[in-house]
Amino acid sequence: MTRLATAKLPAGRGTASRPRPPRASPGQVRGERNCSVARTLDIVSDAWAFLIIREAFFGTHSFEAFRAALGIPRATLTDRLRKLTRLAIFRQVATHVPQRKEYRLTKMGFDLYPSFMALMQFGDRWLAGGKPPPLTLVHMACGCESHPIIACSACAAALNAREVEYRDGPGAGRTPSKPGRNTRRASDESRFVLGRPSSVSRALQIIGDKWSFMVVREAFFGNRRYDKIQAELGIAPNILTDRLSRLVSQGVFLRRLYQQAPERYEYLLTDMGRDLYGSFATMLAWGDRWLAKNKPPLLLRHLGCGHDFHASVICDKCHKPIIAADMQYRLSYDPKAFGALGPRSLP
Ligand SMILES: [Zn+2]
Ligand SMILES: [Zn+2]
Repeated sequence: MTRLATAKLPAGRGTASRPRPPRASPGQVRGERNCSVARTLDIVSDAWAFLIIREAFFGTHSFEAFRAALGIPRATLTDRLRKLTRLAIFRQVATHVPQRKEYRLTKMGFDLYPSFMALMQFGDRWLAGGKPPPLTLVHMACGCESHPIIACSACAAALNAREVEYRDGPGAGRTPSKPGRNTRRASDESRFVLGRPSSVSRALQIIGDKWSFMVVREAFFGNRRYDKIQAELGIAPNILTDRLSRLVSQGVFLRRLYQQAPERYEYLLTDMGRDLYGSFATMLAWGDRWLAKNKPPLLLRHLGCGHDFHASVICDKCHKPIIAADMQYRLSYDPKAFGALGPRSLP
C-alpha cells in the first residue's frame, strides 16, 4: 500500500523550510521563479534532446548512428543536434570524410551524466514492469556492479526529499516568463520508447515535459493545493489540470479530498513521486553549475548533517563520484532487435 506523502518537513526544524515567494509590486508581472531546475528543464525537457544526449553517453557520435539508435525522424535529429550544439552541450568535430561532422559532448554535456543516472535509477525502480532493468552498470573505478546513490555532497548520505531545507540564494527572484517556451507535450509520448528499452525513456514519459516536472518541484517545496501551485507557476488552468491528472494516473501523486462543498483536492506525492527527488536535485545542481553565473537562486541544507550541499551521484559500493567515463554497461536485451548499437559493453 502506498503511504500518504505529506511533503512537509519535520516540525520545528527551522523556519526557512521552503523558499519564500518573492513579493511582486502592484501591477508588476509576477513572472517565473528563478530556478536552476527550470533552466535545466528548458534544455533537457525536450525528450528527444535528452535521448540524444543519452546515446552520446553510450559512445554514439554520428548522425546515422543517432538515427539508428533512436528511430528519430531526420529533420527532428538535425534540429536537436543544431540546438544542442548552440547550447554548448555538443561540439562538432571534423572526420576523415569531408563534410561529415561528428558530435562530441562538451564538459557541460558530460556533466549531465548524474541527471541521467538519477532518471535511470527512477525508471529502474518504478517503471521496469517487473522485468530486470535494461542496463546493469559496472563502475570501472572499483570493478563492482553499481547502483548509484544521489547523495549529499557534504556528508555523502543518500538524499531524501524530507530532509532538505531551502532558502533563497543570491540569484533568487523572478524573471518575466518568456512566451512560447518549450512547454507543450509531444503529441505522442510513446515515440520516446521506440528505440532501445530504457529506463530513462520511461522516466521521460512521465516527466519529459517541463510543466509536469515543475508541478513535482512545487510538491517538493510543500505546495500541494491547486490554487497555490497555479499561483506559483503562473500556469494556465487547463494545462495544470491536465498535468495533475496525468501525474495522478501515473502514480506520482495521490489526490485527496480536503474540503467538501465546494469539493477541493490536494495532491500528495506518493513514494514513487518522492523518489523523483534525485532527478530534481541533480538537475538543480547542473543548472547551478552551468546556468546560474555563480548566483544560485536556491540554497539547500541537508538536515541530516546540517550543511549546505549540492546533489552528487556516488557509487553505492566505493562511494566515489560517478562520471560517464568510468561506467560500463551490461545489456539485458539484444540491441540488434531494436536496430540499435550496443552501448559500450564489457570486453
Ligand atoms: Zn549531508
Ligand atoms: Zn564504485
